[in-house]
Amino acid sequence: MTLSRRAQMVLGGGSAILLGGILGLALWSWWLRHHRPRRELVVRFPRGRAAVIALGLVVIAVGACWRLIMAIQSVPSCASSAGAPVVTRSSSFDLSLVAQKVATWPETGIGELYARARGAPVCWSRSANYYVAIHANTLIGARAINLGDVILSPRYSMSRDEMAALARHEAGHRPQWAMGTIIGGPFAFPAAYAIDEFFFPRSRNHFERLAGLKSGGYSDSGTGPVLGPAQLATLAALSAFVVVVLFAARYRRASSRSRRPGDLPESGPSPSRIQVPDQSGAGSTNRDLPMP
Ligand SMILES: [Zn+2]
Repeated sequence: MTLSRRAQMVLGGGSAILLGGILGLALWSWWLRHHRPRRELVVRFPRGRAAVIALGLVVIAVGACWRLIMAIQSVPSCASSAGAPVVTRSSSFDLSLVAQKVATWPETGIGELYARARGAPVCWSRSANYYVAIHANTLIGARAINLGDVILSPRYSMSRDEMAALARHEAGHRPQWAMGTIIGGPFAFPAAYAIDEFFFPRSRNHFERLAGLKSGGYSDSGTGPVLGPAQLATLAALSAFVVVVLFAARYRRASSRSRRPGDLPESGPSPSRIQVPDQSGAGSTNRDLPMP
């Protein structure tokens, strides 16, 4: 199947927004500007990159579809589910909340699908305006985690006030998911969180501090980074990578300049400077021949 140029543009732009948010769209525009042939615009992806994009789009599509199914289905209220966190009822219509729900639509679907796969009961917290999936173990042990508009929570035995505090904390991660998705796509927030957690673990994590340490069950252990062997090795590898990339870019620029005849130095060897016999028969002379 061959897509028209306009269809390729729309598909590429749409994929860029879905996968990368604003950053993805900016990257896409930059890529188009720098790879635009003179006459016609042809959008081509290397096979590996196309496969990654297709996989990302499939994950997003599956999440979005499942979220839609959950939105249509009737879900039991959390008030009747023991162990579910409950918070105080939020008042009237909240535009920012709706925007957060829309922005995190596919992530929420993936979280709900995960809960379904684990056989975890899902309930709807009307007061907090999100889904809660209760099961024994989350992805990262006993801590509750938030995926957009759903919380994967262990079955805590805690007081109602403690549950309300935990729910407030988890709800505090929803705007972080939404902002991350808008800026960098659905995978931006977990990536940013993981990087932050690597250098600023647990209570030092900036996202956890923003959501509220006390309500999240963290005890404050400082704000600075933790630089152990793993962190230092990562920083060293990253620095080496940046240096190699800079040198490679410089080498590419230099070699592309040397291929242009106009930029050749006055003397010195050059692949385009070859010996041509003189017409007058007085030996030979150097002439620049045009590059093929
Ligand atoms: Zn948290």
